[in-house]
Amino acid sequence: MVLGQTVHLSGATREEFLADPEWVAHEEVHLRQVRELGTVRFLWLYLVESARVGYYQNKFEVEAREGARRFIEGRRS
Ligand SMILES: [Zn+2]
Repeated sequence: MVLGQTVHLSGATREEFLADPEWVAHEEVHLRQVRELGTVRFLWLYLVESARVGYYQNKFEVEAREGARRFIEGRRS
């Protein structure tokens, strides 16, 4: 997960993370969200969204998944 300007990995090594471009692209979307909202606002809104609609429907996760998918599709074409 993203805290400040850093991606924190749980249950994975840096090498595993960097070998997965879709995952990296996903976290890059979160880094942009943090830049746009600020860390405190992002974390607060993220928690509110998660409590309201759950992790999967959380709009920040939806945006990150879509951003990562577009990135991967762009690489293939
Ligand atoms: Zn995410």
